[in-house]
Amino acid sequence: MDDIPRLEIRNIVRRFGGRAVVDCVSLSILPGNVTCLLGPSGCGKTTTLRIAAGVDRQDAGEVLVDGAIVSDAHLHLPPERRSIGLMFQDFALFPHLSVAQNVAFGLKGSKTERRRRVGELLERVRLSRFIDAWPHELSGGEQQRVALARAIAPQPRVMLMDEPFSGLDNRLRDGIRDETLEILKEEGAAVLLVTHEPDEAMRMADEIALMRDGRIVQAGAPYNVYNAPRDQAAAAFFSDINVIRGKVEGALTETPFGEFLAPGVPDGTEVDIVIRPQHIRIDFDRQGRGPSPTARDGTPARGVVERARFMGSESLVEFRMDFDGSILRATVPSVFLPKVGTPLWLMLRRDRCHVFPARREERATS
Ligand code: ATP
Repeated sequence: MDDIPRLEIRNIVRRFGGRAVVDCVSLSILPGNVTCLLGPSGCGKTTTLRIAAGVDRQDAGEVLVDGAIVSDAHLHLPPERRSIGLMFQDFALFPHLSVAQNVAFGLKGSKTERRRRVGELLERVRLSRFIDAWPHELSGGEQQRVALARAIAPQPRVMLMDEPFSGLDNRLRDGIRDETLEILKEEGAAVLLVTHEPDEAMRMADEIALMRDGRIVQAGAPYNVYNAPRDQAAAAFFSDINVIRGKVEGALTETPFGEFLAPGVPDGTEVDIVIRPQHIRIDFDRQGRGPSPTARDGTPARGVVERARFMGSESLVEFRMDFDGSILRATVPSVFLPKVGTPLWLMLRRDRCHVFPARREERATS
């Protein structure tokens, strides 16, 4: 049973005014797993979620819960018949109902059973003391925990969450995310969470589905999507990136940082070497001595510090590179904050460099 996806979306298409805002999207989520639909504003995430919930209907494709079709060209079960829990950014508890009444809202069974379940859920979200309070007496984080208790009360098989934590301040958010995740895992629901924040997706997801222009461009475990982006835009969605341009000759790209493999790319083609700021290293051993052409881990290149910012746990340093005057950004431990104008030798972590076809509109940095 466990290998039947709890929620499955197959080849969903949704058009508005002739434009496919969801363009053949497929997802499959096992019980107890969290998939984050991640992408920029307007890429079609919410529309996909609304179709899974049954509040919108697709033009093509199917939605299945536990292997049974809940929506296709012929059938369209309403949300309340899909065993689905919903949690949105504007989580709006019912203001005229107490905390207990809010949580009990979707519950069936006898009064005693409902009371027992409400008590148990409020204990799970550590809010038993607020059982008789009104929503307005609670902080944003507490209201969100009540909303979670309300959503999981009927034990839905699928939880659909749309930016559920974005109304909370940063310090609260991490704790509530972790707590929510733990409770959802215990419940064994399949979770589809929509977010435009990569950090949130990496913190919450078993699988990230990266969405762009109505399509899923890459899906996989957070580690893989982050470390093996399939194109430059996918890399740039997770962090700032540096781009170093090179031209391919004999499957190699010559750059000021040495040669990079570019297998299968025709001679003369321009490529971009993409690297995140945390994978650029300052080569402290080399300072003052100049480059060694036999360096095993590649060739260093020199840049002059143009700007250095202390960011708390790290420093962000911008270098104006000697080789072409472009800017490269590196993050370094914050114990190090070099002075503007200092020349330093930089190395790239070659195992963290990605070679992609050159993007015409971008040059040097993104
Ligand atoms: P955000 O993160 O900003 O919510 P999103 O990725 O969730 O963005 P959607 O809300 O799914 O994006 O919207 C995708 C596109 O579809 C947008 O261009 C939006 O304007 C359009 N759209 C959504 N709903 C409708 C509708 N009912 N009628 C017309 N266009 C719509």
